[in-house]
Amino acid sequence: MPKKYHISPKATPLDLDFVYKFKIVRGENCINCGKCTKVCIYEAHKRRKDDPRKMADPNTVACRNCFRCIQECPQGALEKSLEKDYLNIGGAYWKPDMLISLWKQAEDGQVPVSGAGYRGTFTGTGFDSMWTDMSEIVRPTRDGIHGREYINTAVDLGRKLNHLVFDADGQLVSEVPDTASLPIPILFDIPAPNLSSNVKEALVQAATEINTCIIMPAAEITPEFEKYSHNIIPCLMPAEIDTHETVLKKARFVSIEYSDAVPNALPDLKEKIKKFNHALTIIRVPAGKDVESIVAKLVHSGAEIIHIVADYRGWELNSSAGRDGRLLKDIIRAVHLRLVEDRIRDEVTLIASGGIAMAEHVPKAMLCGADLTAIDIPLMVALGARVYEDPVKLMIFPEGLDKIPLSIVTQRMVNLIGAWHSQILEMMGAMGIREARRLRGESGRAIFFEEIDRDTFGNLFRTKKRKAANL
Ligand code: SF4
Ligand code: SF4
Repeated sequence: MPKKYHISPKATPLDLDFVYKFKIVRGENCINCGKCTKVCIYEAHKRRKDDPRKMADPNTVACRNCFRCIQECPQGALEKSLEKDYLNIGGAYWKPDMLISLWKQAEDGQVPVSGAGYRGTFTGTGFDSMWTDMSEIVRPTRDGIHGREYINTAVDLGRKLNHLVFDADGQLVSEVPDTASLPIPILFDIPAPNLSSNVKEALVQAATEINTCIIMPAAEITPEFEKYSHNIIPCLMPAEIDTHETVLKKARFVSIEYSDAVPNALPDLKEKIKKFNHALTIIRVPAGKDVESIVAKLVHSGAEIIHIVADYRGWELNSSAGRDGRLLKDIIRAVHLRLVEDRIRDEVTLIASGGIAMAEHVPKAMLCGADLTAIDIPLMVALGARVYEDPVKLMIFPEGLDKIPLSIVTQRMVNLIGAWHSQILEMMGAMGIREARRLRGESGRAIFFEEIDRDTFGNLFRTKKRKAANL
């Protein structure tokens, strides 16, 4: 059995202001009987340390909204009320509940639970219109988190051969391209601009600790990051390759920004980069309307890894969200199917980013056809950043974040990815898939709402329409 990949979470509360959905208030009529300390399994109610005869203020952060303490308080002294700020954060995509859930996962690295059960809708847009086939959930041995069955989340990056060729003596004739593996299908994407040096270093440390990589503008990789070279992917324009020779010499992967000249120049670019350190080349392609044609062209030109980048809500770039654009789920499916049609799917690794907001989006993106994903905003929410969508994208960091020790900031990001890793294991176990590599394009394990809606009701409505048109 291969050595198990494990992320060690550690309770790491961040003593900074964040938004909560409900505030718990203990009224004056409390008689300090302590019953709420016993009924709340999340320890949101405790006695005061300095005077145990009295109750401390309720810890809203720990609350999971089960309402048990409210029901069982003999005095009716506890009240829960909706926080005003809760309604203002996020937007149509980054919903307030999502942000609060990410924050909580960063606190302790645990799989999020909702004491009040799931109350959302069962379909929506993008990844919300996609369900996964969990028919294997009944098998008690398939428990990835507790290690009853080994579920491997490792993925490979690089170009693969469609088939191997041997000569008459049985010797391998095919030249096998270089590949590299990561233990988890999540990269850290380019950090937001103007982050403090503390946060930037924490991102790099967290990526190193969980053994993934962070994509960073090559110009920002200063000498103090040298010791993390194995886990940093420099990102640059093709013309900047010679300028950043020192950084590229230590890199395992190099990310190149796409331009119209890249497909023709690709063989030379790859050659140039390989001379430094046998690094694999990633082409970073904006997810615009013609992304599938661009990706196909790049693969025909020899691209080994392509990173498709949608906007921060997963929309196609340069589209008016919700009207004429596609969401990341549909973009990945279109690109994957185009490569399958061209019979070149195995020759390239696809990374997808933009709108990967929750753990479930990772396996869903892979079922649609991505090999792995890249994230940025969730890592910032782990540090207490509030995200706003309207009228423009805005991320506000809590005051005092710069004074928080580096180890705490790093551990919160490690916790978040630890919680995501556990959720990915749970989903894979429930789907009966033990290798993350097998998730790619495994659409038979997914149910797409649009498709079942069309299959169930499509004919009915088409008939009515035809009838109305006298056809
Ligand atoms: S159960 Fe009610 S009365 Fe008893 S300590 Fe808690 S809040 Fe006070
Ligand atoms: S509502 Fe539930 S989780 Fe929240 S404090 Fe009360 S008992 Fe604890």
